Amino acid sequence: QHERAQATRFEPAQTSDGHRIEIAANINRVADASVAAAAGAEGVGLMRTEFLFLERDSAPSEEEQFEAYRDMVQAMAGHSVIIRTLDIGGDKVVPYLDLPKEDNSFLGIRGIRLCLARPELFIPQLRAIYRAAAFGPLKIMFPMIATLEDWYAARDLAEQVRRELDAPQVPLGIMVEVPSAAVLAEQFAQEVDFFSIGTNDLTQYTLAMDRLHPQLASQADGLHPAVLRMIDLTAHAANAHNKWVGVCGGIAADARGSLILVGLGVHELSVSVPAIAELKAAIRQHSLADLQALAQRALACRSAAEVHQL
Ligand code: PEP
Ligand code: MG
Repeated sequence: QHERAQATRFEPAQTSDGHRIEIAANINRVADASVAAAAGAEGVGLMRTEFLFLERDSAPSEEEQFEAYRDMVQAMAGHSVIIRTLDIGGDKVVPYLDLPKEDNSFLGIRGIRLCLARPELFIPQLRAIYRAAAFGPLKIMFPMIATLEDWYAARDLAEQVRRELDAPQVPLGIMVEVPSAAVLAEQFAQEVDFFSIGTNDLTQYTLAMDRLHPQLASQADGLHPAVLRMIDLTAHAANAHNKWVGVCGGIAADARGSLILVGLGVHELSVSVPAIAELKAAIRQHSLADLQALAQRALACRSAAEVHQL
């Protein structure tokens, strides 16, 4: 079975009734891009740029970042790359940034909040991304968007940088990983170019369970119906406004989770590279109609255990 999946890894993931799902890769390093393409990825659904900033003594320069983003886009040979802007804070600590210690770092100055507070960090990254856009299709995605004000501020800064460079526009989207963004998905869908649902943080914040807490690990389940309803709200709003919606959190690679996500109407699943071939093979075994019925039953469940039983 494993070998059959590998042999068909460059073929699309299409349900038995002909509905195609894009399968993309989550990558952390530039060198991962060519590995992802060779593994059958149809794009990069999440490039975690914070990894360029970790394990060093100072932030990478605009030039260094430009070269990294350019190399990645070129390695994907025409497939699109979603570059997520810096998502530092929470569990990701960077000593040289001198971030104040916070009692609740997952609820503090992380992700887009940090970038908006530190334009000297954010602007060089945006410049590097817009310059790299000349070398292949890329999209910019902002992490930890909680309010429309977050979005307006991030979008306006990106637009200002783009104009200064006289660069063409690229699609601008948001991670949906904070419950407020899912609840207001209808409003966000009128504004953004695309959504990507981050189920790791969305689970953490919906269930109020620290994603790193060992005693909560088994309960912090992305298949919990409360989380699935957040995803449903988001996918609904996206489809109603003809906006593209992907999922880049861990349940996209889960054998059960991925099928429910397809049934909820997402367009793309972005997963770690080793999961790509098997995920494509799994989707080919089902019809969209069956997965839609499965998703509706999952939404009606009262607990994660009931969803797993399904
Ligand atoms: C997520 O939160 O689901 C996600 C994909 O981003 P990260 O795991 O980097 O927070
Ligand atoms: Mg996240």
